[in-house]
Amino acid sequence: MRWLMRRCAVCGRYTLRRDKCPLCGGDVAVPHPPRFSPEDKYVAYRYRMKMLAGIIHSEESSSEPT
Ligand SMILES: [Zn+2]
Repeated sequence: MRWLMRRCAVCGRYTLRRDKCPLCGGDVAVPHPPRFSPEDKYVAYRYRMKMLAGIIHSEESSSEPT
């Protein structure tokens, strides 16, 4: 079953309308948050490790010009 309910971004009213809020005319959106991508977490982890490795590398080779 598809998610039919939409939620107004302005007043927070739930509606079945897909174009705009029937109450205030505000934009409506699917209320549940966008699906979290595990790939983002992986990228963030890699970035952190890369940064950590960079710090360690810079400390170890501080005498060498990069
Ligand atoms: Zn509204």
